Amino acid sequence: MSHHDKDHVPMPLNTPAFSCTGCGAVALNADSLCQPAGRVRKSDWCGTESIDMPPFCLNDRHTLRYRCKKCGRISIDAPLLCEPEKVPVKE
Ligand SMILES: [Zn+2]
Ligand SMILES: [Zn+2]
Repeated sequence: MSHHDKDHVPMPLNTPAFSCTGCGAVALNADSLCQPAGRVRKSDWCGTESIDMPPFCLNDRHTLRYRCKKCGRISIDAPLLCEPEKVPVKE
């Protein structure tokens, strides 16, 4: 029925999250980000395609990340994205 990964359960659009001023990624916990900024909600980015950001954190504090195939958003937590795919880890 679904093409999603069997483990993937997207969170609702009103899920609160944090965004990173360093790399633009989002995460459920501010600790996951190199430069955590203000709170956002999933509806702030999901569904928009105007985001252009570095694919990796500027200071490489975290390496495992996901990109949304629909909107291009980078996230530390896959459930924050509607169609996450793993971003290859930089060597
Ligand atoms: Zn960052
Ligand atoms: Zn999305």
